[in-house]
Amino acid sequence: MPRKIKELQQNIERLLAAVEVRFDEPMSGFTSFQVGGPADILLIPRSVGELSDCLTVCRQEGLDVFLLGGGTNLLVSDRGIRGVVLLLTGLAEVRVKGLQIIASAGASVEKVCEVAADHGLSGMEFLYGLPGTIGGALWMNARCYGGEMSELCVSAQLLTPNGESRRIATGQSDFSYKKSPFQLMDGCITDVVLQLHKGEQQAIRAEMQQNYDDRVQKGHFQAPSAGSLFKNNRDFGAPTGKILDELGLRGRVSGGAAIAPFHGNIFINNGSAKAVDILDLIVLSVETARSKLNILLEPEVRFVGEWSDEELAPLAEVLS
Ligand SMILES: Cc1cc2nc3c(=O)[nH]c(=O)nc-3n(C[C@H](O)[C@H](O)[C@H](O)COP(=O)(O)OP(=O)(O)OC[C@H]3O[C@@H](n4cnc5c(N)ncnc54)[C@H](O)[C@@H]3O)c2cc1C
Repeated sequence: MPRKIKELQQNIERLLAAVEVRFDEPMSGFTSFQVGGPADILLIPRSVGELSDCLTVCRQEGLDVFLLGGGTNLLVSDRGIRGVVLLLTGLAEVRVKGLQIIASAGASVEKVCEVAADHGLSGMEFLYGLPGTIGGALWMNARCYGGEMSELCVSAQLLTPNGESRRIATGQSDFSYKKSPFQLMDGCITDVVLQLHKGEQQAIRAEMQQNYDDRVQKGHFQAPSAGSLFKNNRDFGAPTGKILDELGLRGRVSGGAAIAPFHGNIFINNGSAKAVDILDLIVLSVETARSKLNILLEPEVRFVGEWSDEELAPLAEVLS
């Protein structure tokens, strides 16, 4: 732990007496890849008030903050994350108001779908089985089974680092493939309002189950992963999984990581992977696709924490 953080330890515990605080917490326990070194400080607020207090203290102490949802789309460095990680899964309330659902950002997508089904509300069946939080899904504009988050969301509450809270109306035109307007805003989504419509409970549940079963059958939950590693790009003429497959990379191993033998665009932790093992496979894929096909594969997974310039240099062109 850096010296400055050590000196801050008592101060933080005093200022945030009500909040769960952990120091040197391995991020491997909070990411779906199950890799990642320690965060200097992990804060786990249980209400928007606590979250706001955390942001205030971080601002006053000049600490960098990373917002963590379900950790299902991240590759955290083996050296971990300097500064503060704010874990949002403690904000998990889900309410129904007429045909709308108001979900706290840290609620799991699964829970929000379950509440919708319980109330006979249709429209979000396509999301069932998507790992992670509803706030993370909005931030990423997650998409699957013919739908995407932008089609459901009507507004979201954003808490800025200086403590200002504002409601943002979300128009579909502000979103695009894997992009949301929130990626350009500095702030934490604290709740998400989704517009649904009346449906028949049995039909809703049947569609949810069908989507979930399809993920199981495709091997999504066979090993720790972050789902699709690279974005798809229509200009490439084939899904990225097929491209990597045809390049002969499916099944390739580096240390404890592998490109899944069952899917070219799912990279997996075989049990003992380090983040650098996964990085090696990403670099191999990008370089092979560039040299053999003259295309640039763009990672969907976000690189978080203490990566060196040398480590990420081979990806400089493709990291947004
Ligand atoms: C098995 C598997 C299957 C998957 N299938 C799909 C799929 O079909 N489609 C798809 O799109 N994705 C898929 N993913 C990727 C991932 O599940 C989604 O991107 C998910 O929406 C990320 O949510 P999260 O809460 O885990 O976000 P995290 O991974 O924790 O964070 C992602 C980004 O969002 C930011 N963020 C998170 N919460 C907030 C917040 N409240 N306010 C501001 N910023 C925030 C984080 O800072 C980070 O930059 C899959 C992943 C796995 C493991």
